[in-house]
Amino acid sequence: MRTILLGEPGAGKGTYSLELVKRYGIPQISTGDMLRAAVRAGTALGLKAQEFMKKGELVPDSVVIGLIRERIAQPDAAKGFILDGFPRTVPQAVSLDETLTELGISLSSVFKIEVSRETLIKRLTGRRVCKACGTTYNIDTMRPLKEGICDKCGGELIQRPDDMPATIENRLSVYHKDTAPLIEYYEKKGLLRRASCEGEYEDVIARIFAALEKGATV
Ligand code: ADP
Ligand code: ZN
Repeated sequence: MRTILLGEPGAGKGTYSLELVKRYGIPQISTGDMLRAAVRAGTALGLKAQEFMKKGELVPDSVVIGLIRERIAQPDAAKGFILDGFPRTVPQAVSLDETLTELGISLSSVFKIEVSRETLIKRLTGRRVCKACGTTYNIDTMRPLKEGICDKCGGELIQRPDDMPATIENRLSVYHKDTAPLIEYYEKKGLLRRASCEGEYEDVIARIFAALEKGATV
């Protein structure tokens, strides 16, 4: 399976990706995670990306396109992959099409996460991440065992700088301007699947699997 998870910031792309990783045994490829790792490591790319990320702006297409090209060609992605947070602009989607054609492969589906604005804001403001390893928690729905401490590594849990209220508004408007056009882009290709991702977690996951597996060879 080669799929893309599409949805607003806070929709749950990262969380649902991990469920797909477990079920299908294919890697999650998250440009957000890759960029945050570069920021933590203090590389030249990380320093450049950080300027855009902290304001809630998109990192330039050329930067993320380069990252994705390299990542998709890795051996563990040969069986399939879940793209989380990429593509985010039409030029990124066009470039992805070119990369896939070069590799002689194609997408199985694109899944659009459907959630209300109220839920998005709640998921974003409640999100906490481990400063050391990047694991994500939520103070309402996915609490750590010990408040403020990462279950996995004992690191300190903090709010992502771009999860502050002022930046959230900007990220949502950037999404509507630059990323929402991808819904039509993939609809036209006949790849788009959607399901409501509100309600009980287990039900949401079941709806996502059903939407992805409908008429597909997994
Ligand atoms: P969210 O979906 O919650 O906004 P991500 O982790 O996917 O979180 O992205 C965080 C930030 O990283 C974005 O606001 C943007 O600055 C940058 N980023 C991630 N993926 C891309 C991309 N494909 N193109 C441009 N910028 C990106
Ligand atoms: Zn941790």
